Order: sequence, then structure tokens, then C-alpha cells
Amino acid sequence: MRRITTSLASLFLCFVAAAPATAQLPPAKDSLNPAPTGQSSAACSATDASSCAEAAAKILPQVMGPSPMEENLRRLTDEIGGRVTGSPEMAKAIDWSVAAFRAAGIEVHTETYTLPATWSEGDTKLTIVEPHGAPSSLASNGKMALTVETKSLRAVSEGWSPPTPQGGMVARVLDLGYGTEDDFRSSGMIKGAILLVHSDIGSTWADLFNEYLRPRDIIQKAIKGGAAAILWMSARERLLLYRHTNSLDGEIDKIPQAVVAREDALRLARTIRAYSGEVRLSFVMPNRIGGPVEQENVVGEIRGYEKPDEVVILGAHLDSWELGTGALDNGCNAAMVIEAARAIKATGLLPRRTIRFVLFSGEEQGTIGSYEYVKAHRAELDKVRAMIAFDAGIGRVTGYSLGGRRDIEGGVREVLKPLESWGANHHTYDASFGTDNFDFLLEGVPTLVANQEEANYLPNYHAASDTLDKVDIRELKLHAGLAALTAWGIADRTETLGKRLSRGELDVLVKETGLDQQLKALGYWDAWQSGARGRKP
Ligand SMILES: [Zn+2]
Repeated sequence: MRRITTSLASLFLCFVAAAPATAQLPPAKDSLNPAPTGQSSAACSATDASSCAEAAAKILPQVMGPSPMEENLRRLTDEIGGRVTGSPEMAKAIDWSVAAFRAAGIEVHTETYTLPATWSEGDTKLTIVEPHGAPSSLASNGKMALTVETKSLRAVSEGWSPPTPQGGMVARVLDLGYGTEDDFRSSGMIKGAILLVHSDIGSTWADLFNEYLRPRDIIQKAIKGGAAAILWMSARERLLLYRHTNSLDGEIDKIPQAVVAREDALRLARTIRAYSGEVRLSFVMPNRIGGPVEQENVVGEIRGYEKPDEVVILGAHLDSWELGTGALDNGCNAAMVIEAARAIKATGLLPRRTIRFVLFSGEEQGTIGSYEYVKAHRAELDKVRAMIAFDAGIGRVTGYSLGGRRDIEGGVREVLKPLESWGANHHTYDASFGTDNFDFLLEGVPTLVANQEEANYLPNYHAASDTLDKVDIRELKLHAGLAALTAWGIADRTETLGKRLSRGELDVLVKETGLDQQLKALGYWDAWQSGARGRKP
């Protein structure tokens, strides 16, 4: 999920990146060596010189050496597979993470919340049924009728889309272009029609972010005009299908929607042009809806020795879509967070403050698990010193998105000083929706989201091809070291990283970063304004 106006650097369910999409660029081998212990510039803080350098020297051999991380990730992806929040696979993934934390010697518990609805896809079928006829017959426009017997189009339901009516629907299909204001005006009568909405091929974080910002307005207009359903042209080539959701509050959406394979959607668009007004589709999408149901976040913890009630959170979402096995998004980072906990624990070092390792569920339904976590822990947010999130596969980390907080950059740079040669100390100040830091940010808690190169994330995003073979384990090990040191350093430095912002300060931040535009586009603005979501005015 991410950004809208100004610099479109980041995105949805996963984020910001400045560099072009290339293969991962692991640091040179010698970059694995941290700065020597005791070097005065390698500090967790300006006043306490050495704990981060010492910690780095102990953490890195842990993560780069033999570790259970790869096998843990294989079990999560290959054996449990895709894990939609509310599904039996999600329950198995919760058990998996509890067991993995325990095996690492980390105290762990789960925290429950209520997911408004469960959802799963049935046997979706999308077929051109008219015009049809014998090869020699003419359609009413004088053209030859469509005769191809195989007129089925490859499509999958959008996540949390309602089913089509019992038995499906047959309706005329209308090409709505890109669904702009002008497209709606010139499209004529949409009442009762299935709408085909075009997309460009997405290849950047900004493109991905736009995939989440664009639909809401189109859906509202479609519902207002009485359309029967919406078909979204896939933004990826080669028949690749993927699952998004356009419902960002966990409730079932208001109109049936599917993603149609790009090549099939383009063929449909050409057919509509050739047989203007005559093309009808049969659309059968018997999605199964249930719930509400109790779901869980998993919380591991290493307690601080001096200020145990002050907390640094390192988090990633455990849930995924299920066309693939959720390896890049976000199984690799769930396994990485457990590995960071294991590595810190294995050093025998204790941090000054408590570090919590949180695996959220409900992220793909609109960061519901982290929103519920924030609500349940509202009374202690004054003492949450930072929330760190990883949610962009295994592209090389270039730094952190600091959620509009220039005031925390100095502290983050000090913490990462021992890994200076990794090139991961280039931070950005954008603030955007897109992953589990979102509600912490809106509550004024300092948040850090790993800025990562696109690598192979976007071509496999939410698709059947998001599988373990896409995960570069060496890169993931480096990220475990980086994440562990970041959490460790913020937890152990003498000063706090930054204060919790007041509502007044947040109002300025939201405007300056353009987050206000995102909140409006995504439908969160009223809740933010009223204080129902985020820090109360
Ligand atoms: Zn994600």
C-alpha cells in the first residue's frame, strides 16, 4: 500500500524505493565486516559510544552462519502455503510462528481481535456468450458473429469481493477505458452493465501504489450508476493473475470485481469495439463469505533490563494471498523477523528497553491486524519508541522511510553506523499508507519502513509466481542482520529515538507529506479527522 502527490516513491502493502528495478545487488563481501569494536564513531547514540558496534559484531555471525531461517521459510511457504487471514492455513501459520519463536528461545504469545468477515474464492468463470452463431451467420451490425467456442476469459476474484448472484449473471459489457471522469461521462448508460477498466503495465513502486489509490473512486461511480460488476485489466503481462483487494476495512466489498488476465482483457476490449453494444458476458463468481471470526497477531519479546516498559517493535505481516505461497510478500520477512529475534537472543546481550517482534495478520485486508494491535495498546503508545516494518520482498535495503520524521534521522544513522558500508543508511521522509506501520504513524509513534529496491517483487506481486524460489536467502540474511541491529540500537541507546508527536504536530506532518491526499483517496480521511483512527485531536 503507498504515495500520491509529490514524489511518488513508495507504494501499498509494501514500499518506497528510489533505485530502478534490477536484480538485487548484494553488498560486496567485505561489507559484512562491521566496523571494529570500540570505534568511537560506531555508536548507538551520541553519548554512549560502543553498544551498537559490539552488538553488530555479535549479531552478524549469528545471522550469516547456520540458522533455521531458510527451513522455517520453506515450511511456511511450501508446506502451509498461501495464508489468507481467517483461513485454516492462517491458523497453521500462527502455530508455525509460535513454534519458531519458542525454538529460538523467545517468549511468545498471541493477541486476538475480530476480523469482520472471512472470504474465499469459488470456481470463477467468465465467458463471452454473445454475439454467437454459426460461422456464416451475420450479427445485427452486419459483421460475422463470434463463433469461437473457447470464449472463456482467465480471471480471478478480487479479494473480499462479494459473489455474483446465485447462478451467476449474464450482462452486456462496456469498455470504460481507464475509468476517468470523462470515461464515465462518455460511456453512456452503465446501469446493469459489467464494466471493463483498463490498466497500464505496472513496473515501479509508484505504479503499484496507484493500483490501490485508483479503484475507490471508480467503484463509487460504478455503484452510483448501477453497474453490475467491474473487471479490472491485469497490470501484468503473460496471463499472470494476482489478487488485490479494494476493500480496506475487512468488510465485504459492495460490487463483484475480478482481475482479468491482461491478454484476455485486451481481446475482450477489441471484441467490444468490433461488436459495439452486443457483447454479453456470463460471469459466475461463487465466492464464499463467512465470519466475523477471531484472528491473532503473534508477539515475541525480549525484555529490556533497564526500561522494560519502553518498547521497540520490529514487525512484518504473516498473512498473504493464496494464488502463490506468499514468499516475497511477506513470508520471507516474517521468517526474517523471527531470525532477528533469534540472533539477538543468541548473542546473550540484553537491551536497555524491551524489543517486541510482532507478526501481524489481516495486513492484506487493509492493515487490520496492526490497527487492532494499536487500538489494544493505545494506553502504552507513549512508551513505544519506534515501530520498524519490513514488507517489500528481498530487494536490497537502501535505508528507511521515516514517516515524515526528520527528527529521528540522526538517531537512526548512529544506530546503523557499524553497517555504514552496506549503503543502507540513505533514509527518506515520506509518509504513506501501505503496511503495518500506518496506524503507529497516525498515533505519532516514530516509524521506520525498510526502503527496498524493487528486485523481483513487482513481477510476482500477489501472484501464483510468488514462491520460495524467488527468495534470495543471502540477501534475506543481510536484512535479518540489519533489522536486528536497528531494533537493538533503538532499544539500547541512552536517548530515546524521538518523541511521540501530538495531534497538532501530526496534522502538520500529514499535510507536509501529502498523506492527507492518500487518506482521502483511500477513504480514511473522515476517520482521521474525527479521531476514530489515529491520535485524537
Ligand atoms: Zn505485504
